[in-house]
Amino acid sequence: MIYKHDPASIQGFLEDTSNLKSGHTPGVFFPETEDELAELLKSAVKEHRRFTIAGNGTGTTGGRIPLGEYVISMQKLDRIGEPVRLSRERASITVQAGVLLDTLQKTVEHSGWFYPPDPTEKLCFIGSTIANNSSGARSFKYGPTRNHISRILIILPQGERLDLSRGTCRADQEGLFRLSLPSGGELSFKRPEYSMPDTSKHNAGYFSQKEMDLIDLFIGSEGTLGIIVEADLMLIPLPSAIISCLVYFTAIDELFHFVDLLKKQKNGISPRALEFFDSHSLEFLTEKYPEIPRNSAGAIFLELETTREQEERDLDTLFGYMESSNAMTDQSWMALDRNEQERLREFRHALPLIVNEWLSRQHESKISTDMAVPDRAFRDLFDFYRSSCEQQGFVYIIFGHIGDAHVHLNILPRNREEFLAAKALYRTFVSKALELGGTISAEHGIGKLKAEYLVGMYHESGIREMVRVKKYLDPFLVLNRGNLIPAAYLETENH
Ligand SMILES: Cc1cc2nc3c(=O)[nH]c(=O)nc-3n(C[C@H](O)[C@H](O)[C@H](O)COP(=O)(O)OP(=O)(O)OC[C@H]3O[C@@H](n4cnc5c(N)ncnc54)[C@H](O)[C@@H]3O)c2cc1C
Repeated sequence: MIYKHDPASIQGFLEDTSNLKSGHTPGVFFPETEDELAELLKSAVKEHRRFTIAGNGTGTTGGRIPLGEYVISMQKLDRIGEPVRLSRERASITVQAGVLLDTLQKTVEHSGWFYPPDPTEKLCFIGSTIANNSSGARSFKYGPTRNHISRILIILPQGERLDLSRGTCRADQEGLFRLSLPSGGELSFKRPEYSMPDTSKHNAGYFSQKEMDLIDLFIGSEGTLGIIVEADLMLIPLPSAIISCLVYFTAIDELFHFVDLLKKQKNGISPRALEFFDSHSLEFLTEKYPEIPRNSAGAIFLELETTREQEERDLDTLFGYMESSNAMTDQSWMALDRNEQERLREFRHALPLIVNEWLSRQHESKISTDMAVPDRAFRDLFDFYRSSCEQQGFVYIIFGHIGDAHVHLNILPRNREEFLAAKALYRTFVSKALELGGTISAEHGIGKLKAEYLVGMYHESGIREMVRVKKYLDPFLVLNRGNLIPAAYLETENH
């Protein structure tokens, strides 16, 4: 197995997009086969090694950054199969964890199939998107990654192989999972017990539900319970036509009215993506897109799957909604062909780039939220974000997945003092989101950056449930220590 420990090879593994600076490691292993990976874990205790699993470093929460552990890079496990048709409407593809999302999407689309999860950044590994239960704009229609996974192959922390298909192991009425392992051993433990928030997206802590499928415990567990080596992904036929558009509004209430109309899904139009840009985001984008109307209070990007026969009718319905919400129809941007849709996609992706350039000139990092609340509480949280930032005179933008009551607030500090004030404000946002019945992470996960806030969400009793499950599967704390569960809880709990 390749092992590298020279500083130049290690450096890239001490980073992701979180700006966490404290990463350090003795070296990085690059397993090329499942057996090599299993052997590495089997000898971990004897060799006094702990590991942090590395995907492609696009995570935002420091999950892949080692704090003294060895790193296991998944990049050499990158085999990809061919789509296998299961019926007219379904296919499946087997991929290894180190396959890029971009490669996967192009491969399946080439054969007329479609893999819905699309967490904006395409240069992430499929294994990481499963470990993080990633979601994105299209999750409004299709839900998060877990909805599209039918099988995973995991190497458990002590090197056991677990090949788990959806439907083969469910928690019984008492919450107990029971499963035989190929080695002759047996898994027998209770699911974590707590209730999850009533939000349409939630990605904080281990999944828990009555009679849940064991596969759902591993999906979203952020590499703390095992290493995902391979997966079967479910595919659906590639939609034959898409309507994309960016609709501007002069008043924020009218924008919300438009969103409400679309969420009610009357007359059969049901977007797959419903995304928001506030006026500050649009101001940043004006630098590159001077055609953005100056007086807009915000914009909605939407994507709608249709057919050539249906397209005219769907457009009529959409224009009807725009009119009844007083949208700036004449200035709005309709994209009906692939080229125009690609331009619109570039528009959406330009925002983080422009903002990051701005930030690098201030030599500061942004403070960003990933909270979601139940639909009924969305406006409360949104207004709280805005009034708090206005009061303190911050530069900020709000954008994202409004269809799922999940927008990202980015505070962009101009100096250290503002950075510290914004960090303090972040805590009040956490409290507000929790008070409204929300989640501290709707999609980016907890990683190392947000572990302390998980206690506020699940209380000590919930964290103890996570510790119980973690220590059952990983008694020697070999994998991804410091991720998701605050390290102090792992050290003090007995097992
Ligand atoms: C501009 C931008 C936009 C983004 N937008 C979204 C979005 O809309 N929605 C969203 O959900 N995310 C989004 N993300 C976050 C990110 O892309 C996802 O979290 C992605 O899943 C990370 O993949 P990666 O390969 O880069 O993983 P890494 O950052 O390398 O690792 C992420 C975590 O996964 C663990 N891990 C990696 N591989 C495995 C494995 N095989 N088995 C077990 N654990 C593993 C790591 O230990 C780490 O904890 C965005 C990121 C950026 C930079």
